[in-house]
Amino acid sequence: MEDINKHGIDKPLELAATEELILIRLGEIALKGMNRGKFEGQLMRNIRNRLRNIGKFEVNHSQSRVWAIPLDEDADMAAALDAISKVFGIVSVSPVRSFHGDIDQICLQAVEYARLLLADGRKMSFKVESRRGDKNFPLKSPEICREVGAALLLAYPEQLTVDVNNPDFVFYVEVRDLNYIYHTVIKAQKGLPVGMGGRGMLLLSGGIDSPVAGYMMSSRGMQIEAIYFHAFPFTSNQAKEKVIELARLLTPYAGSIRLHVVNFTDIQLKIRDDSPTDMITIVMRRIMMRIAERLAISRGCKALITGESLGQVASQTLEGLVTTDHVVACPVFRPLIGMDKDDTVQLARKIGTFETSILPYEDCCTVFVAKHPKTHPSLAHAEEAEAALDIEALVEQGLNDIEVIDL
Ligand code: ATP
Ligand code: MG
Repeated sequence: MEDINKHGIDKPLELAATEELILIRLGEIALKGMNRGKFEGQLMRNIRNRLRNIGKFEVNHSQSRVWAIPLDEDADMAAALDAISKVFGIVSVSPVRSFHGDIDQICLQAVEYARLLLADGRKMSFKVESRRGDKNFPLKSPEICREVGAALLLAYPEQLTVDVNNPDFVFYVEVRDLNYIYHTVIKAQKGLPVGMGGRGMLLLSGGIDSPVAGYMMSSRGMQIEAIYFHAFPFTSNQAKEKVIELARLLTPYAGSIRLHVVNFTDIQLKIRDDSPTDMITIVMRRIMMRIAERLAISRGCKALITGESLGQVASQTLEGLVTTDHVVACPVFRPLIGMDKDDTVQLARKIGTFETSILPYEDCCTVFVAKHPKTHPSLAHAEEAEAALDIEALVEQGLNDIEVIDL
C-alpha cells in the first residue's frame, strides 16, 4: 500500500503543461531499406496536403514515427485524425497527450487523463502498457506500468478494475524525450504512400467495382487519374455527376484526381450501327481501352486499371478479357480479378463509395447491351466485329472530345 499512496491524488504536485498531438505509426515503409527516406518524405507530404484544409499542423518525423502537431489551439483534432487515418502508408494513429516530468508527474497526468474517460461514471477494466525509449529514465517499463496502474486504481476505486487479458481499454505510457500518454489506437489503411508507385489511369464507371479498384491500386502507392466514357443522352447527366462524386470520394485516400470525361455518344452509336449486336460490348470495351491507353501515355500513366473480376459478367470471361487486353500494350491492372463480389461490396462500404455506386443511373455499358452477348469471343471474332469500323478515327474522335475535371 505504501507504493500506492505515494501517488495519491492529493499529492501536492502541479500538472505540467500538456500538448495534444497525433502519433502516426508507419506500416510497410518501415521495412524499406535504402529508399526508406524517400517513402517517408512522400508520406509526410501527403499528410500535409490532406491536413491543409483542416488547419495549421506541423508534420515531422522522429524515431521511426511521424507526428502531426496542431499549431492552432482550436484545431479540429477529430477531423485531422480522420484525414490522416485515410492516408496510405500508415498502420494506425493515436491522439496523444505529451508533457515533461518524472514518474510522479506521469501518474498525475494519467489520473487527469482518465478523469475525462470516466466522467459519466461508467465502470471499466483496464491495463497499462508502457515503453521506455529513454533508457536513462530511472524506472523500467514494468515498474512504470505498476506505478501508473496503482495511481489510477487509487484515484477511481469505484470505477476502475485491472484486467490484463481482456481490458475495456489499454492505457499506454511512453517515456521518450517527453512523456506520452494515450488510450486510443485508430486503425489506418496500411499500404504505401501515393506517389511512390507510378501513375495509373483508372477506367472509372458509376458501378461498385471500379472505385474499389482505384482504391486498391492507390493503396500500393499509385497516383491515379480517371477516365469516364459518357454517352449523353443515353446516359444522363446524373450518371456523370455520380462518377464525379465517386472520384471525389476517392480523394481522401488517393489524393487529388484528374478525371477525364470522354464524350462517347457518337462512338457508341457507330459501334451499335456497324458491329454485330452480340459483339457490341466487346467492341465498345476494346475502343475504351484504346482511348484510355492513348490518354494514359499522354498523361505519363504507365498502366490502366479496371474493376473487372473474372466471370462476373459476360464480357469478363477469360476470352473477353483477352480480347480487350489485346488492343493495348501497357499493363492492365485488375485488382478485383480474383475477388468475390461480397468482399468488393464490403470494401466499397468501408471506403464510403457504395451508397453512391448503387444510385440507379444507367452506365453506358448497359444501354446498348445485347440480350445474348457473346461470352467467349475469340480474337478473330473481335477483329471481325470491328471490320466495318474506322477504329483509328473513333479513337481520335474520343481523344478530341474530353472534359477535364480536377478533384
Ligand atoms: P463497375 O462496377 O466498375 O461498373 P461492372 O462490374 O459493372 O464494373 P462493367 O460495366 O462490365 O463491369 O465494366 C467493367 C470495367 O470497365 C469497369 O470496372 C470499369 O473499369 C470499366 N468501365 C465500364 N464502363 C465504363 C465507363 N462508362 N467509363 C469508364 N470505364 C468504364
Ligand atoms: Mg459497370
